[in-house]
Amino acid sequence: MCATNSQITLSEYKNTIISRCRNCKMYNIIFRNVHLVFDEKEYFKFKETLCNLYEEDYNKHYPTGQSVLLKNSKSNVGIALNKIEVEQILRAYSEAEIFEEVFAILY
Ligand SMILES: [Zn+2]
Repeated sequence: MCATNSQITLSEYKNTIISRCRNCKMYNIIFRNVHLVFDEKEYFKFKETLCNLYEEDYNKHYPTGQSVLLKNSKSNVGIALNKIEVEQILRAYSEAEIFEEVFAILY
């Protein structure tokens, strides 16, 4: 991961900060105390995954409420999100997309 000053903040909404690195072009999603780093393909794949969740996917009972457990096959670490949290992250994605469009026009 590159230095903090190479990050452009694309969105800050509730518990979510989305930024992108000017150098390596990686996306960073910080949600509460979880920090996810994605390349462009993974970033949009994660959004797609969140968009395509059904009611029955929220089948884990965690202290934060009924949640979906998201993890990839390469790792034992997962992130559990309840419905409100998923909506908040998707809202941050929307803001980030608008910011990136504006940024592309200006620079
Ligand atoms: Zn970087």
